[in-house]
Amino acid sequence: MTLPFTIQAQAGAARLGRLTTAHGVVETPVFMPVGTLGSVKSVPQDTLEELGAQIILGNTYHLYLRPGHELVRNLGGLHRFMSWERALLTDSGGFQVFSLSSLRKITEDGVNFRSHLDGSSHFFTPERSIEIQIALGADIIMAFDECTEHPAEHGHTRDSMEMTLRWAQRCKEYFEAHKHDVPWHSPDLPDQALFGIVQGGMYADLRRESAERTVEAGFPGYAIGGLSVGEPREKTREMIAAALEVLPKDKPRYVMGVGYPEEVIQYAAMGVDMMDCVLPTRAARHGLLFTSEGRLNIKNMRFAQDQGPPDAACKCKVCARYTRAYLRHLFVSSEPLAGILNTMHNLAFYLDTMRAVRHAISLGDLSGILAGSVSTSA
Ligand SMILES: [Zn+2]
Repeated sequence: MTLPFTIQAQAGAARLGRLTTAHGVVETPVFMPVGTLGSVKSVPQDTLEELGAQIILGNTYHLYLRPGHELVRNLGGLHRFMSWERALLTDSGGFQVFSLSSLRKITEDGVNFRSHLDGSSHFFTPERSIEIQIALGADIIMAFDECTEHPAEHGHTRDSMEMTLRWAQRCKEYFEAHKHDVPWHSPDLPDQALFGIVQGGMYADLRRESAERTVEAGFPGYAIGGLSVGEPREKTREMIAAALEVLPKDKPRYVMGVGYPEEVIQYAAMGVDMMDCVLPTRAARHGLLFTSEGRLNIKNMRFAQDQGPPDAACKCKVCARYTRAYLRHLFVSSEPLAGILNTMHNLAFYLDTMRAVRHAISLGDLSGILAGSVSTSA
């Protein structure tokens, strides 16, 4: 069986869903913390469990380079290697490989690139990406796609989208032939699931066409990729809306690499089921806290004697125990605890926000939460 997905309740276009993986049920809409190297930076796995993270991301490119997918496979897969018994998703490595713009060369067959670690030469094809992701063993894996650069002309964006569609077919064929080639495969548990990815740059017509043709290829879930690459927020929404018009309502729909807390709420309201972003963890390491009153830069002098919690409305352990003055002191003193506590709070804020979104959908009304969300992007 492949990733059973049921919808429990709806509020407008928003859906409350349950995604059943071999590593437990994921309630959607869900925010997925990013754990690039098999670690959500600064936060141990038991804390992620306490915070209520249901599913986290790993990164194919990074784990392939270090420690290597064969090693992870031989140690029982990524779940066992990192001691994470809940659900995992790996991205295909496409985005990272394309980000190495000066270090890579793209052909129809795949992408030749140099490691950012030691300059060694590597070749990723759609088949190779899926082979690595099968070896890592995440519950959900992603097709290898080309992230069209931004900005790009319509013609070039179409060519790029066409290649992503051809690569999606190759990913699917390789996956179907090899998905059970792992020692931990069990016929009693849901199979690993391969998601297709909608591209099409900043053109609504291409987004719709990409969605139609990816759905024709047939996947158990669909992602919308290539967004949050510098376009205005209104454009991001428009591209998501164009793809959602076409994507089937009975399958999970995942927007990759977004966004600020208020955006995550808006996209859930539009009918998006899954989102991931480095923002809460990366911002935390730079001293930026997301709160119910907006964004807070903890290194600011005005917090030096502030005895209030980071966010008076937050129920996390950090807000229950520590003051803004102390968090500021840790940050300006470069204490490692600063990154740990800031990350715990930011993740709690995102995960609690999604919990509130799910509760509101179960009550059939998201208007209160949409009206109450504060801009945190500046
Ligand atoms: Zn907090």
